[in-house]
Amino acid sequence: MDILNEIKVTMPSLSVNEGTARAVVSSFLVQLDPTVEELSDIRTAVSEAVTNSVVHGYRGTKGSIELTVRALPEREVYIRIKDRGCGINDVKQAMEPLFTTAPEEERSGLGFSVMESFMDKLTVKSKVGKGTTVTMRKRLSAHGD
Ligand code: ATP
Ligand code: MG
Repeated sequence: MDILNEIKVTMPSLSVNEGTARAVVSSFLVQLDPTVEELSDIRTAVSEAVTNSVVHGYRGTKGSIELTVRALPEREVYIRIKDRGCGINDVKQAMEPLFTTAPEEERSGLGFSVMESFMDKLTVKSKVGKGTTVTMRKRLSAHGD
C-alpha cells in the first residue's frame, strides 16, 4: 500500500471518544479538502465503528481502540478501527441489516449498513476473544484546483 500520509490514535473505550474519533478524522482530512457530504459520511461511518467497539466489543469492560487514518494515492481515504474486545462470532450475520445482539438497548442493527453505504469498501475481521478490526475506504471526488 502506497501511504502518502498517516495518523494513528489510541484511545480508551469511552463513549466520549466517539466524538474524539470524528474530530481526529476531520482534522486529518483537511489536507484533502473533502466536500461537506463526503466528510459527513466518513465521520458517521467512523462513529458507528467506534461506537460498536465501545458498546459491543468492550461491553461492561474497558479496553483500547486504535484508529488509523491514511491518505492513499488518487484521493483515497483508508480508515481502520481496531479493538481487542469480545469479537464477533458470525461476521456475515452481524453485517446483515437489522441484525443486533442488543435490541433491548434500542440498537437498530444498522451500524454496518451505514458504514457500507457511506463508504466505498468495508471489511470486517474478527475473532471471538481476540477482537475486531473494521477497515473502510472511500475515494474522494476529484478536485477543481
Ligand atoms: P446500531 O449500530 O444500529 O446501534 P448495532 O450496533 O447492534 O445497532 P451494527 O453496528 O450493525 O448494529 O452491529 C451488528 C452487531 O455486530 C452488533 O449487535 C454486535 O453483536 C456485533 N458487533 C459489531 N461491532 C462489534 C465489535 N466491535 N465487537 C463485538 N461485536 C460487534
Ligand atoms: Mg452499531
